[in-house]
Amino acid sequence: MTKYLAARKKWATAGKPTRTKEEMSSIFENFCQPCDRFTRRKNGTGVCTECDCNLSTEPYQVNKLWMTTEKCPLKKW
Ligand code: SF4
Repeated sequence: MTKYLAARKKWATAGKPTRTKEEMSSIFENFCQPCDRFTRRKNGTGVCTECDCNLSTEPYQVNKLWMTTEKCPLKKW
């Protein structure tokens, strides 16, 4: 099972809890953007090179910040 599928299963089992847009924006701006593991895409989203997860302020299921059950692999948030 891939890390993403494991994260989806954990999230679904917890009842699919999600962060608000404000919560995602706060994590994105205060922790991920300044982080040396953050790689920016041209569309403004990013990727974490520590866990290979997508990072964005938009609510969609392949965005690590949207799923409340997901945490920073370096425990920054
Ligand atoms: S998830 Fe953690 S390690 Fe990855 S870019 Fe964000 S703050 Fe850095």
